[in-house]
Amino acid sequence: MTDLQPLAVGDRILRKPYIISGPCSAETPEQVLNTARQLAHAGIEVFRAGIWKPRTKPGGFEGIGVPALEWMKQVKEETGMLTAVEVATKEHVEAALEAGIDILWIGARTTGNPFAMQEIANALAKAPDTPVLVKNPMNPDLELWIGALERLYNAGLRRLGAIHRGFSVYGKQLYRNQPQWRIPLELRRRLPSLPLICDPSHLGGKRELVASLSQHALDMGFDGLIIESHCTPDTAWSDKDQQVQPDVLGVILENLVWRNSNEASENLNHLRTQIDYLDNELLDILHRRMEVCREIGNYKKQHGMPVVQATRYDSIMNNRVSAAVKLGMSEEFMRTILSAIHEESVAQQIDIINR
Ligand code: PEP
Ligand code: MN
Repeated sequence: MTDLQPLAVGDRILRKPYIISGPCSAETPEQVLNTARQLAHAGIEVFRAGIWKPRTKPGGFEGIGVPALEWMKQVKEETGMLTAVEVATKEHVEAALEAGIDILWIGARTTGNPFAMQEIANALAKAPDTPVLVKNPMNPDLELWIGALERLYNAGLRRLGAIHRGFSVYGKQLYRNQPQWRIPLELRRRLPSLPLICDPSHLGGKRELVASLSQHALDMGFDGLIIESHCTPDTAWSDKDQQVQPDVLGVILENLVWRNSNEASENLNHLRTQIDYLDNELLDILHRRMEVCREIGNYKKQHGMPVVQATRYDSIMNNRVSAAVKLGMSEEFMRTILSAIHEESVAQQIDIINR
């Protein structure tokens, strides 16, 4: 996927950073129009609203459906904002395109379903200029996320983007969906030209978390934000705890620090050279450590000892972790590193023993 194009609607290239906002669900014409007018006033370029809502259990509000597309048309005519809705079936795609919706997004529950993704991709093959944003699947599976994007790409779509909305976990946590930032960052490494948008509303699940999650995303080089907003969030028919009022959104956006990611000065290059050098040292040290491990493996083989000695591993872990914490690194980081090193050391010793 090397020839992706910037997000654009017709000839209109979207402004960066991309800001998409609007209610979780379209509920009434008044709620949609009222929210949209305030967002347009705040300078938002793209208006979102869920028309078909995937709900965990039956019986909840499942969206207004096709009639709400008329309200989106009105938003477009009256405010000039571009419009975006979620699609999950080929019927949704056809109805949305027929109604002149500008941008489509794929919800987390759909991204993880290859049959649904293929059906959507086939329906979009007739309108390959449509910009489509693909949310991450519910589970932390990067290949499934990329697979969904590839299906659209193979159908001829080039105006693609990805939305990070976090990953589902069992039990109550601070975040409604765990951020696991390394997954979108790995996506960026694999597909550097794919625009990356953060959805702090579904990540945090609480309006108080929207600002800090947004800033974190910008600090990591995300290209935009999709934030749920509602004219009266407390009365919202879905996701009421995470929606912000349009004027609050304006304040949040004003206070964010937008970083210019493309400026690599001489100073930065100098620092990067140091990192390259240090990484090579790290590699060399790891290599030497593994050689000593293999010698220990030989000793254990000669003396009929098992490869893993739990007490030794435990004392290495405790001792290195407390040293790392004193040096300003997190306990979790050190535990992860050591357990990976230990796993490789054991593999090397097992190799020796079986020779
Ligand atoms: C939404 O954007 O309203 C939505 C349903 O999101 P997700 O697919 O991320 O749960
Ligand atoms: Mn929502």
